[in-house]
Amino acid sequence: MEKAVSVPLGCPIPFFTNLVVRPCHITTPQEREEVLKRTENNPFAFPASMLLVDYLSDSGSTAMIDLQWAAMFRADESYGRNHGYYALQDTVRDTFERGDNQKRLINKVIIDEPNETWKPNYDADIEGGFVNQGQRQLERPNFFITPQGRCAENILYLTIRQILDKKNPGKQLKLTIPSNGWFDTTEAHARSNGIHPVNLFAPYFSEPFPIEEVGKSNPFKGNIDLVRLEELIVKEGPENIPFVLMTITNNTGAGQPVSMENIKAAHAIARKYDLPVWFDAARYAENAFFIHKYEKGYSEKSIAEITKEMFSYCDGFTMSCKKDGLSNMGGILSFRDKGKFWEKYSTPESDVGILMKEKQILLYGNDSYGGMSGRDIMALCVGLLQAQSLQYLETRLNQIQSLCVKLHAEHVPVVLPPGGHAAFIDVNEFFDITVPGIDSSARQEKAKKEGRKWLGRDIADFHGQGLVVELIRRFGIRGCELGAYAFEWDNKNEADRKGVVNLVRLAVPRNVLSEDHITFTAKAIGQMYKDRESVPRCRVVRGQHLRLRHFQCGLEAIYEEGKRLE
Ligand SMILES: *Cc1c(COP(=O)(O)O)cnc(C)c1O
Repeated sequence: MEKAVSVPLGCPIPFFTNLVVRPCHITTPQEREEVLKRTENNPFAFPASMLLVDYLSDSGSTAMIDLQWAAMFRADESYGRNHGYYALQDTVRDTFERGDNQKRLINKVIIDEPNETWKPNYDADIEGGFVNQGQRQLERPNFFITPQGRCAENILYLTIRQILDKKNPGKQLKLTIPSNGWFDTTEAHARSNGIHPVNLFAPYFSEPFPIEEVGKSNPFKGNIDLVRLEELIVKEGPENIPFVLMTITNNTGAGQPVSMENIKAAHAIARKYDLPVWFDAARYAENAFFIHKYEKGYSEKSIAEITKEMFSYCDGFTMSCKKDGLSNMGGILSFRDKGKFWEKYSTPESDVGILMKEKQILLYGNDSYGGMSGRDIMALCVGLLQAQSLQYLETRLNQIQSLCVKLHAEHVPVVLPPGGHAAFIDVNEFFDITVPGIDSSARQEKAKKEGRKWLGRDIADFHGQGLVVELIRRFGIRGCELGAYAFEWDNKNEADRKGVVNLVRLAVPRNVLSEDHITFTAKAIGQMYKDRESVPRCRVVRGQHLRLRHFQCGLEAIYEEGKRLE
């Protein structure tokens, strides 16, 4: 196994050297303010080239490694069955099934040595895996390439709805899917197919975590609440639950990891009621690293072995390869051949994979490219394998940790311990927001004791979004609100509001930023915390009821009189 690299010094060994760099453009707060006005204060519409540091998303924003660029040069853009397709199938098996016994076929493709993509082995037949190869890939397709994660989700939720409606003609099914945390596009796909998504965050999710423990222990706050999971299955009835969804890492739950123990237990509960388990696997490698580093019994296991074990507890997964795929584009949908998911949704007349393939072709492209260019497929093959490097993962997660520790040193309330891909600012703490129905007297008391003014802001005033807008204006730093505004507090009923966390996310792009960016960011946000009365509230002025509105609606930033800083 690759050695854990940080042991001797307590810090990671550098993972990369920069061979290409891009200088930033310098703009003034006045210039940025003008553009913010023209772009309706919607950060998604703000031009990247006017920013100094961009934390909008870690999705597709990776700087690829040199070998990925080299692999792209060796791509094949044939319409049917380009060699990258076979290499990707095999890489997916390497990644999720083979543990330490990987074949790494892509390496041979890159150097053009004789390999199985020259003449695929049609006798190669494995049953019960995530990729039906050989002849089976036509009869029982179970592996699908898509342009990105949400396309895989689209195929999945459309197909489930179609099958369940057909099985229950004339019945008004009330379907519910419980999860440890729904990602926004995933939630939207479920909803638009009439499936009710429920978040079951760990009961200790909001408990404080001591800064001294950062880097030493981890409570796996991304876990699903197992008690509520079982209660919900019983209450709704297993027949109304298409599957149990585990998001690893838990993006909406502050990028927190899920423990192997929790995955295993959720799987056991699902099985008790004969339900499949599905993974939203965008950050499988980062999750595996947390298990390696913090969960008992895994420190001697490689990321590949841990990944293999994690995926032994799922019956299928969708994955955005723009994250741990270390790729700028790509998505995967895969389910276990003859597994619980396949069994539940297939009939002798109609195979669930065939129904999915129909949608893949209709929406994205023929099965061997699924909307990805041959170049993207090659880059993804290398990226999937590279993402399993301990040296890479340690450097990556250490950078997030450093950002959180530095923000904390500036008194900015951050979610601790640090998650896998982002630092999350606790907006309720930052602005002393009181949430209706939750007693805040202890927090008020604490502020008083520390000699801090209690602002007592209203959650419906979207101060988290105000913070994002003001960070762009004053410092050229772009974050992303994932809280009361993005999760539509104002459009939700009282019960659904309970699942809303109120955060601002600083998602760190992979292999892009230096420690200088991290220090600059912590200082800037520290300054904003000192000036927090100057941060505007926000109001939606266009697109209040648009689906996934935070990507597209317009906002007004309203400063308290006399408080705005130049
Ligand atoms: C990014 C992401 C998705 C959606 O993937 P895209 O590639 O952006 O379409 C789904 N789930 C999670 C957890 C994600 O982080």
